Amino acid sequence: MPIYKAPLRDMKFVMQELFESSQQSSLSGSENVSEQDMDMILAEAAKFCENILFPLNLSGDTEGCHWENKEVRTPKGFKEAYQEFVSSGWASLACEPEYGGQGLPETIALAVEEMVCSSNLSFGLYPGLTRGAYQLLLKHGTDELKQHYLPKMVEGVWSGTMCLTEPHCGTDLGLVRTKAVSQSDGSYKITGTKIFISSGEHDLTENIIHFVLARTPEGPSGIRGVSLFLVPKFLTDDNKEIKQRNTVYCDSIERKMGLKGSSTCVLSFEDATGWLVGSLYKGVANMFTMMNNERLAVGNQGLGIAEIAYQNALSYAKERLQGRALTGVKHPEKNADPIIVHPDVRKMLLTMKTYNEGNRMLGTWVALHIMRSQKAENAVEREEADEFVQLMTPVVKAFMTDCGTEVASLGVQVYGGHGYIHEYGMEQYMRDARIAQIYEGTNGVQALDLVGRKIPTATGRYLRRFFHPVYGYIQEKQGDAFLAEFVGPLQKAFERLQQATITLAQRGLSNPDEIGAAASDYLRLIALTAHAYLWTKACEVAYKKKTGQESAFYESKIATARFFMQKILPQTSSLFACIMSGSKPLMEMKEEAFGPF
Ligand SMILES: Cc1cc2nc3c(=O)[nH]c(=O)nc-3n(C[C@H](O)[C@H](O)[C@H](O)COP(=O)(O)OP(=O)(O)OC[C@H]3O[C@@H](n4cnc5c(N)ncnc54)[C@H](O)[C@@H]3O)c2cc1C
Repeated sequence: MPIYKAPLRDMKFVMQELFESSQQSSLSGSENVSEQDMDMILAEAAKFCENILFPLNLSGDTEGCHWENKEVRTPKGFKEAYQEFVSSGWASLACEPEYGGQGLPETIALAVEEMVCSSNLSFGLYPGLTRGAYQLLLKHGTDELKQHYLPKMVEGVWSGTMCLTEPHCGTDLGLVRTKAVSQSDGSYKITGTKIFISSGEHDLTENIIHFVLARTPEGPSGIRGVSLFLVPKFLTDDNKEIKQRNTVYCDSIERKMGLKGSSTCVLSFEDATGWLVGSLYKGVANMFTMMNNERLAVGNQGLGIAEIAYQNALSYAKERLQGRALTGVKHPEKNADPIIVHPDVRKMLLTMKTYNEGNRMLGTWVALHIMRSQKAENAVEREEADEFVQLMTPVVKAFMTDCGTEVASLGVQVYGGHGYIHEYGMEQYMRDARIAQIYEGTNGVQALDLVGRKIPTATGRYLRRFFHPVYGYIQEKQGDAFLAEFVGPLQKAFERLQQATITLAQRGLSNPDEIGAAASDYLRLIALTAHAYLWTKACEVAYKKKTGQESAFYESKIATARFFMQKILPQTSSLFACIMSGSKPLMEMKEEAFGPF
């Protein structure tokens, strides 16, 4: 049976030792939250995830969701777990106190979400989407809409969805056909079909608040004519009591590869009543508020799955006896050595470990900038932090979810044939991880967003929010004897990234295919460089503490960083070569040459 233990020690390292915890508390306006308080909150969340959510993961996958008469029943135990989730306050951690939230640092919410995703990703989607919907309404809703809907969403009694996708319209949102017709009372009638809607219908909450992209008949065509509407499942009176059923129905749910405990719904809107959110025709831009938050959350899903895959693979590798170590018998008392003695198995485990710990640092780094972008006192600091978040959002989404699938797949490999068998849990992690590379904008589209939009913005100003601290740090640490083994490879990766950026900027001017052809490689290059920077900083902390009480923990950090620098970071060299080879090998190929032959 699979195991899960929340990685509290590493979370503490990232939140309190690598980054300053007092800054997180003061930015969120909760100065009185001490490091001990943070530890306590995370320890309680760990208990909930390990004892309540995790035991429902395998059973939820086996049972799946049930659809009958346009209603959806979640797997056994989900409803009770959700009640406990909400009553324990896990839904409202980082939400604004004005609407009933606890106003805690975003970094705490991120760590709790990681635990939820590790222990039961399907379950995590229900509150996860509500949090995105909350952010969207908070930023773009009128006071009236906010007062009516936010408190119940923060409480977790009402949940949220994001309704973009239609049968003919996925990545290209300019193709949206769902129609919105304005009414004399200021509301709209919404008609159309949305597909693949996560948490579109379920039995966990009293009401479901859909955020729907639709177009008004008089608006311009394409993406410039799309607006955003709030459409509740139940219409409510001024006291927020359920008044009547709105005409939005779940026609079916999808049978799918993974995430079986999460309902993925076909929703039909049949003249359903809705209200405009934000300005008319700004629907896609406004929806991006939610999508940016969701993209960070989805990156965190990749980490959550990767963490549980690593924990199980590690435990298995220490127990499974096969063959003998190449350098001689390690456990003569046993009839074979545990597979962790084999270099190839170690390589798999260390790859998993480095990606996970690196991504935990990366996600928290970005979450910290989100807090700064919203709450820093100084407007310039807020703006600069926002530019960093804009730049790194596609990186976090795509790289962390790519790692999620890669790590889950390595987990299966460490288990050998047992990894392919349902009861060991590893194959579920692989199936569950896969969708995170697709939804919230495919990873290919994230890469295009990074290279085609974020990098050229304001002639590279966003990029400088990343380049400047990294370059400054490399300069500062030149000649540092302890850190030399890390700073050297970091500098090389950084120089490759600089060179690739200049080349792409030049080539892209005359040929946009150069951007498209290099985008995914470039995204991985910047992500690995960010990891190298964070690993070097982590080692700086670890060196200072490695002779203390927790020497084993800090020694492990340094050894893991060494593996990263020597075995993973060299990927930047091949990524650089691929970027430099340009678009011709892709674009000169005639379409007929692809076959079939
Ligand atoms: C389990 C699940 C849950 C989901 N949840 C939601 C939800 O809650 N709400 C919601 O609205 N949607 C949801 N989706 C839909 C999801 O967001 C889309 O599937 C995704 O955005 C991709 O759209 P598509 O499937 O139409 O693929 P397409 O857009 O048809 O893309 C197909 C391929 O072409 C590539 N491609 C497309 N356009 C370009 C381009 N311009 N440049 C380069 N490559 C391109 C893509 O990267 C992809 O590889 C969910 C989907 C699933 C399976």
